[in-house]
Formats: sequence, structure tokens, C-alpha cells
Amino acid sequence: MDWIERDLRYNWHPYTQMKDCENLPPILIERAEGIKFYDSEGNAYYDTISSWWCNVHGHNHPKIIQAINDQLDSLEHVLFAGFTHKPAILLAEALVDIAPSRLRKVFFSDNGSTAVETALKISFQYWQNTGRPRRSKFISLENAYHGDTVGAMSLAGRNPFNKIFAPLFFDSFRVPSPNCPHCPMKKTKENCRLECSEPLEKLLRKKNKEIAGIILEPLLQAAGGMVIYPIEYLRKVAELATTYQVHLIVDEVATGFGRTGKMFAVEHAGVEPDLMCLSKGITGGYLPLGATLVTNEIYYAFYDDYTQNKTFFHGHTYTANPLACAAALASLDIFEEERALERISQLIPIFHKKMEGFRHLPLVEDVRYIGMIGALELKSLSGEERMELKVHREGLKEGLILRPLGNVVYLFLPLCTKEEELEEIVHRCHRVLDRLKIETEQNLLTRE
Ligand SMILES: *Cc1c(COP(=O)(O)O)cnc(C)c1O
Repeated sequence: MDWIERDLRYNWHPYTQMKDCENLPPILIERAEGIKFYDSEGNAYYDTISSWWCNVHGHNHPKIIQAINDQLDSLEHVLFAGFTHKPAILLAEALVDIAPSRLRKVFFSDNGSTAVETALKISFQYWQNTGRPRRSKFISLENAYHGDTVGAMSLAGRNPFNKIFAPLFFDSFRVPSPNCPHCPMKKTKENCRLECSEPLEKLLRKKNKEIAGIILEPLLQAAGGMVIYPIEYLRKVAELATTYQVHLIVDEVATGFGRTGKMFAVEHAGVEPDLMCLSKGITGGYLPLGATLVTNEIYYAFYDDYTQNKTFFHGHTYTANPLACAAALASLDIFEEERALERISQLIPIFHKKMEGFRHLPLVEDVRYIGMIGALELKSLSGEERMELKVHREGLKEGLILRPLGNVVYLFLPLCTKEEELEEIVHRCHRVLDRLKIETEQNLLTRE
């Protein structure tokens, strides 16, 4: 029996209709180097989506491997209650150092969803601990994504993936998202006055005494289709959070660690959140780790004699795993040593210019980009095979890993991508679109 048969015999893959594997089985990856994967037959694939948005400095990076190996020689794990270890101490220091200045404490967990759940529970309990228990609800944006646990899903925009779980969700408020390509207010760039923030303002004016916090993905609604919104909107939300004294919770799980061209997306807007959720790129994409950063004000609302019942009773078995912390420290070192942010500041304008080259194509409805992320919204081709599968399959033929979000094909490139590689990837994307176009035309013809 070959490896794929054995895989399909017992493995159940995420976000996958396993029956699709009959026609499009998973690919057996054997090794990786830089931004390329190699399968068991020697085919190479560009990791154009950073392995679900987590890889930062490339695969098989000697410095991160060394750091994990060194850590493995001394301590693989220790429970994080009553005990601590140097990698967690160094990493918390380093994160506080690079994060927006009001964030002073770090609560570790082990993935993005738990970083979000932690933030929600901290915010909720903060209001209990400070004598304002009515402030118990959250506001989130339509089209948002914050993870797949039930709490995080409760704050997502309603979509076909989470619809079935809706009866499980807790009560919360949802406001229109600044979805510029599909403006909920039917405005254009020229006549936009951030009207989409008015429902939020109205809600806060009326209900602020019931609101614990507002959570959003800064500047980029990633899973919602790589929707990029203006920094003015983020500033406006921050301003409203301050005015109405609700927590501003930023979910930087996807945007953190350089993706948008700055270490954190909030830096573009100069916004100071009360809580910030991190994961994905935190370890450079090598090991799972989550972190929730909070202000001193929040932290000290929990700091009291045990009998006052203010303790935060929350934690995960692998909280602050030393191997993951060591990988994260190595990744942060690489940011400095390889001047990663400086380097991409040269590459980003080149990348964006290349993205503009897609704009005139007949299949393309919208082109958008920020930092090392670029997206093409394709015209919907209703009645045909699911676009996602088709693009994925055509991408593989070109040695690209493309996993569209609905009809949005995107690149989410590792920061270490070289200019030649970028050129090659964009070139191959054009070929994929060409093939889609031909196929579409043929389908239309046969239908006629
Ligand atoms: C991926 C993602 C999460 C969830 O992270 P997991 O590690 O997959 O649980 C949360 N928020 C945002 C913005 C994400 O993109």
C-alpha cells in the first residue's frame, strides 16, 4: 500500500471534504528548503501561502533548527504554573519590547484560537474584577475570522463554514466591516467618509455599558478574503474604544511578524490596543505557540489576595512550551540579523507593481495588496466546478500552492522571498489564470 492510501485510511484533514481526495489526493511532502517544498517524486512547490500564513524566514532555516535542537538538549517542556524557564522569560521580554508600548504582560497559549479565547476571557473577567459586570458582550466585524474554537467562531462573520455551528455561539454584536471592494455603504474611495463606522458608533453610544470589548483584525481581514481596509478605519475604531471605554482587542494572528511590512499591522495606524493576540508567525512557522499581550491596567485588575477571587483561571497544558519559545526567539533574532523588515521594504513596491499587472485581465474583478500579501478577486463563475479546487489543482501543476478563499486567489509570501522567486511566482500565477480563462471559455462554449 502506498503512503497516500495509508494517509487516507486514518487521517482526517482539516478544511477538507475527504471525498475530494479521491480525485485530488494530498501530496506527500518529504522536505523543504527556503520557500520550496519537495514531494516524494521530486516535484517542487513554492510555499506561496507560507503554509497557512505561518512560515516567515523560510523552511529549514539553520538558525531556528539550531535553536530548537539546543533547547531539546536541555529541556523539552515543563508545566508553566509554579515553574518557569529562560526561553519564556526572554521571549516575553522580547515581545513586550517590540509590541505597542502600552502592552506590558504576556500570557502564552498554544495557537491563534487560544490566543483569542484568552483575550476574550481576560477582557470579560477584567470588568467583573473591576465592579462593572454588565460589560460582558463583545463587538466584532462582519466578515471577520478569529479561529475555529466555539468562542472565537462566535465572533466571526457569518459564512458558509461556520453557519452550521451558529446555535452554539454566544451572544454578541456584529457591525459592518470596512469591506471596500464590496462597500456595505455603497461608497467609493472618492466619496468615503468612513460611513461604515457609523453603525459601530451608534451601537457604542447606546450600549457601551454592556460592552466588554471590540475585536478586529487590523487592516487585513485575512480569512474573510484578504480584504484590506484603510488605516483611518482602524484609527476610528481605536478612538471609539477610548471614548466609550471598551477594550480594543487586536487579532494580529495573521498580520503579526512582518506580513504587512511592519512588525505589527497596528503600527501603520499608530494605534495602541488594550489586548493583542499573536500566533502563526511567532515561531517563524516551526512550532505551535500563541500569546496574548495586555496592558498593566488589565493585568493589575487581576492582581490581589487569592481570597478576592480575581485570579485568571485559564491555561493550556503546553503553555509557553520551551521548544516553541526557543524557535520564536531565533525567529526574532533573524528579523534583526537578516534585516528582514528592511529587506522587504525594498521588495514590497516591486511586488505591488507586479500585482497591478493582473488588474487588466478579463477574469480579474479586483486586485489588492498590503506588505507581502497580494490578492486577486476573480469574477464568479457560477455553475462550474468549485473555483477553489480548480485553482488549487492548476496551481499545483505550476508548482504553486494556491488555496483560494472562495473566488479570492492570494499570495501570502514568506518574508525571505527573493526577487527572482517573486518574479517566477507571479509569472506562474499568470499561467494559472490563462489556463482558467481558456477552460472557462471552453465551458461557456460547450454550454452554448
Ligand atoms: C488563523 C487565525 C486565527 C486562528 O489561529 P489558529 O492557530 O489556526 O487557531 C485567529 N485569528 C486570525 C486573524 C487568524 O488568521
